[in-house]
Amino acid sequence: MNWNFRIAQIAGIDIKVHVTFFLILILGAFQWGGSTPGSPNGALFGVVLMILLFTCVTLHELGHSLVAQHFGIPVKEITLLPLGGVAVLTKNPDKPLHELLIAVAGPLVNLVITIILFVVTGGTAQLNILGGRGELLNALNQPSLSTLLLWLMTANISLFLFNLIPAFPLDGGRILRALLAMRLGYARATRVASVIGQIIAIGLGILGFATGNFILALIAVFIFFGAGQESVAAQAKTVLSTQRIGDSYNKHAITLQNGDRVSKVVDYILTSYQPDFAVVFGTQLLGVVTRSDVLRTLATHPTDLYVSEIMNRDVLKVEAAKTLDEVRELMSERTARIVAVYNGTTYLGLVSAEDIQEAMAVLAFLQQQKRIQAAAKASS
Ligand code: ZN
Repeated sequence: MNWNFRIAQIAGIDIKVHVTFFLILILGAFQWGGSTPGSPNGALFGVVLMILLFTCVTLHELGHSLVAQHFGIPVKEITLLPLGGVAVLTKNPDKPLHELLIAVAGPLVNLVITIILFVVTGGTAQLNILGGRGELLNALNQPSLSTLLLWLMTANISLFLFNLIPAFPLDGGRILRALLAMRLGYARATRVASVIGQIIAIGLGILGFATGNFILALIAVFIFFGAGQESVAAQAKTVLSTQRIGDSYNKHAITLQNGDRVSKVVDYILTSYQPDFAVVFGTQLLGVVTRSDVLRTLATHPTDLYVSEIMNRDVLKVEAAKTLDEVRELMSERTARIVAVYNGTTYLGLVSAEDIQEAMAVLAFLQQQKRIQAAAKASS
């Protein structure tokens, strides 16, 4: 079930809203509903505020996305959740400078919006508020155009500052990693940045509990786990970049011929547990039949069809020299589950997303073993 609704498309990027996002609109209505007793104006004002806030969040994500597109990284979509927005890039930038600029672009949008609102509202009024003039703060509780502008300005300053906290998965964490990566390389930079992020998260968590600010404590938990995840992802990237796809396909896979029937594939599935089958003619790949293709056919067709009638002919091709990491990124970019590995024009074999997942687990284990052995050697 897909809980995201597409509401717009900008620069070829789908802008989607998660269904729980509507809770935020209701929250806005509740928060402001009491400011105008007996009239719906307050509630309406609250809803408008939330919509404008999330317009700013979308602009922030568009900031990241447009810079990413500029560096040749396709953006799948932008999703708006109650906690904020996410721009889904199809791959990580290769160069630290690109990551730096992509990460900086989001908060920069909020800074620009803040400056524009500061100028529009005359600049001085908000300085009085920051100075703690009570009357003005009270005035801010009433729905009006100036309340709206000042509230949005405060929100944008907060978004700017919050996102610059140097901890994953916030933009500040990516900025920190990019700066470190210029010196240390990607894998070490990520390790150092995640540790710094986790230390900051622990600090924020202690501060949150000590001051009774549980939202802050919750954010700290979210940052703590985000930092850990980023470290795991970076490790996977490093591990997968050491292995060629040409060394990773199953050389003993059972292949099918054009004239084979679906019942034969059922036999193979039951005896070999192989999930995907290539249909070949000599050294040429004609198409791929997967376990789910077979199950679907069994459910809908009482007759025994030829595999050529149900196979998928549109299979993503990759060169044997590509690394597992490159292939994984390509698969995510094209939303492909299976690739066909080629050496020039010769078909070699199939590799699926699950195969890569499994290879990653094994490679990570081997690397860990190597590290342990090296440490044992060093201490003896
Ligand atoms: Zn951002």
